[in-house]
Amino acid sequence: MPSPIAHCSLVFGLLPPIERRIQPSLSNSQRRALIAALIGALLAPDLDILFGPLTGAPLMTYHNGPTHSLILAPLFGLLCAGLAWGGLRRGMAVCGVVGTLAYAGHVLLDAVCWGRGVLMFWPLSESRFGGPPYLFMGVRHSKGLFVVDHLLTLLNELAFVTAIWLAAWGLQRWQRRRESMDRQIEQAADITP
Ligand SMILES: [Zn+2]
Repeated sequence: MPSPIAHCSLVFGLLPPIERRIQPSLSNSQRRALIAALIGALLAPDLDILFGPLTGAPLMTYHNGPTHSLILAPLFGLLCAGLAWGGLRRGMAVCGVVGTLAYAGHVLLDAVCWGRGVLMFWPLSESRFGGPPYLFMGVRHSKGLFVVDHLLTLLNELAFVTAIWLAAWGLQRWQRRRESMDRQIEQAADITP
């Protein structure tokens, strides 16, 4: 599986749509809480690592199990919409959609990591789905702490983070330019007799 570095990089793509809808009226602490919630949503499927200790089994016993299903993504989105209503009294739709995308994004990134794939359509299917293609080498927990594989994984994921950041930056730049052009057209239409 990719490390949290790769998963959290999706913040660059998912935060701007929320900010565009609700951020202007948020305080700094609310914005920090929003970013923390988004990171939590991006890592939510990996909460299955807790199932082992909770049942007396080793840490990774139930990791990459049923929580890694796309079918759970919209249900998680509904939970996010409910939390948005409870905490912010607004932004239900955008938080619901972004929560769904964050959960699904985690599942899809795990699927394109070298390994055994994910239970993408559980409970409808018990089959595992994944690459090729593979974007990530993944973290090899079983190999110990000091192996060169971890360095290669880090470089692999930093390259992914850079690509996501550049794509998000380019998209925002394009949107701002388009909004500016729209405003100029509206102003020109107002001036024209
Ligand atoms: Zn995962």
